[in-house]
Amino acid sequence: MAITRDDVLNALATVTVESGGATLPESGRLSQVVIDPGNRVMFSISIDPSEAERFEPIRCEAEERVRAVPGVASVLASLTSERGPNTPPPAARRPPGGPSAPASAGAVPPRQGNALPGVRHIVAVASGKGGVGKSTTACNLALALRAQGLRVGLLDADIYGPSVPKLLGLSGKPRVIEGRVLEPMQAFGLKAMSIGFLIEPESAMIWRGPMVQSAITQMLREVAWGELDVLIVDMPPGTGDAQLTMAQATPLSGAVIVSTPQDLALIDARRGVTMFRKVSVPILGVIENMATFVCPHCGTASAIFGHGGARQEAERLEVPFLGEIPLTMAIRETSDAGRPVVATDPDGPQATVYRTIADKLWANLSGAPAGRAAPRIVIE
Ligand code: ADP
Repeated sequence: MAITRDDVLNALATVTVESGGATLPESGRLSQVVIDPGNRVMFSISIDPSEAERFEPIRCEAEERVRAVPGVASVLASLTSERGPNTPPPAARRPPGGPSAPASAGAVPPRQGNALPGVRHIVAVASGKGGVGKSTTACNLALALRAQGLRVGLLDADIYGPSVPKLLGLSGKPRVIEGRVLEPMQAFGLKAMSIGFLIEPESAMIWRGPMVQSAITQMLREVAWGELDVLIVDMPPGTGDAQLTMAQATPLSGAVIVSTPQDLALIDARRGVTMFRKVSVPILGVIENMATFVCPHCGTASAIFGHGGARQEAERLEVPFLGEIPLTMAIRETSDAGRPVVATDPDGPQATVYRTIADKLWANLSGAPAGRAAPRIVIE
């Protein structure tokens, strides 16, 4: 039985939020309501961080009312204090000058105590643009850290193009263990979570602004990650507002930037470094992916995109250079087949490259303070 947005809005109209009697849809705090093909309903409620306590019961009530609508399979409502294109701020709080001012670092003192319990380090794997092999690198690095005996999780925050289910050959849905908490999926000794497990691939495209952030926050905080040495976060590609908000909202120990050797890709990588610096997240290193092309017939390596650019760029930016990954048929085929090369050919030449990089990463990381709280940026 198909449910409509009006069914959901009618249910939400029974939830009062202001003392004057304004309902949730009237309050200007409700995001776009998303209903996926499986009749799962998602929305968020825009609040000021100081209102979190007052709004938690309202969020629960809103979920309950929508859950009672016939045909609804599940409901995910979240509170968000970030504003995006689909969530206007409550009218009463709209700044007098109108349009948004740019994000500014350090406007508010660092947020304390938002680390993820049980998780020692959260590391973002990012790239200035898509298609440079960020997800493939994140997945193989996670496996290489696992091969060192560390307890590792992989969170796919690339909400616009989740690829972790495919990279790890995983399908099916995660189990709900209690209330809203999900059990992570498991593959090759890694714990994994991706929006790709939760919604149909085509629905991922309609997630915008605060919905993106709240989905990622839930995958971070409402998943039973347990005890982990490292949680690798495969970030959405690019350096826009969504990435900036994510970088500041996640208690990151540091970030790794993946780039290909071309000049243009390096300019994007530089933007990535600048973005993380803006929110005071340490850069753990730069990785040059597709550094050389290894011919599958004769094994000769050629630097078809040029070579060494990322190393020079890292030196120029004074960030560590973690290493070069060649462009090989084995990496592409194993990634696309859901059998990542570090897990399926652990002693082969490709796995060795990833393991060497992972060793350096872990060395840089264990020197970094664990559970660093992220600074907070207010985007108004
Ligand atoms: P991104 O996450 O940056 O969008 P992906 O990790 O999805 O990029 O990689 C894009 C494509 O490039 C995939 O088909 C992947 O298998 C391939 N790929 C990534 N890194 C390599 C590599 N070092 N050698 C060969 N193919 C690669």
